[in-house]
Amino acid sequence: MSERTPVLELIGVDVHYSGVQALHGLTLSVMPGEVVTLLGGNGAGKTSTLSAISGLETPSAGRIIFEGQDITRARPHDIVGRGLVHVPEGRRVFSRLTVHENLQLGGYLVRSAQELATRLDRVCATLPRLAELRGRAAGSLSGGEQQMVAIGRALMAEPRLLMLDEPSMGLAPGMVATVMGLIRDISEQGTAVLLVEQNTRAAMRVADRGYVLDTGTCVVEGPVAELADDPRIAEAYLGFAPTAAEGTK
Ligand code: ATP
Repeated sequence: MSERTPVLELIGVDVHYSGVQALHGLTLSVMPGEVVTLLGGNGAGKTSTLSAISGLETPSAGRIIFEGQDITRARPHDIVGRGLVHVPEGRRVFSRLTVHENLQLGGYLVRSAQELATRLDRVCATLPRLAELRGRAAGSLSGGEQQMVAIGRALMAEPRLLMLDEPSMGLAPGMVATVMGLIRDISEQGTAVLLVEQNTRAAMRVADRGYVLDTGTCVVEGPVAELADDPRIAEAYLGFAPTAAEGTK
């Protein structure tokens, strides 16, 4: 596959929940190595987009293509097996299990013990704090540490596309910056990222491109610098008026 082939493509995707239409013909793409952010207020359709991609909701129209293969109706475990992994909102670590056990669960599709150990080492190299916390019960950790466990668990599957739903939610500002830095590191190691955020400023500092959703429709898309520099877009949809420095990483 060429560098210019998208890792992920959504073409005209609709999602309905018994009577409510959450997405209206959503079209988007993520290129290899890109961080793409999906922005929008409450109920805009961000989580529904990730649920459709990861197979938790089946689109009522449109197509979802991952690495050239149609996954529109694929099952969630199949989608993970192909290298597309979703870290849901709210982290959802297994609180009574240790950090080490949580990470091991992320490698559930790995058959060889040696390969599992290699992956654990790689994840701990990306997230050294997890090595320090490995024997601690995940439920005893801070919100930021739990978010790292959730991301580390997803990385155990060695995804080619990682989807993160509001990873900054409930975190202190310093920890938000750490998590955003981690997202940049992950993309620099070759994993494309689709990042859903309500923390628009944080997301725009780390992302290459963005899509802004409003009631299930994409109202604007483009490089984040362009989105942030357009005062009409910034004020109407992103919740801030840009400053001269805004829009650059
Ligand atoms: P938030 O940040 O508040 O989670 P969001 O942008 O992620 O918002 P979605 O959760 O995707 O938005 O919701 C999009 C629309 O679909 C909303 O109108 C929401 O009420 C509706 N919706 C989401 N999940 C369900 C569901 N399980 N059943 C019925 N309607 C739903």
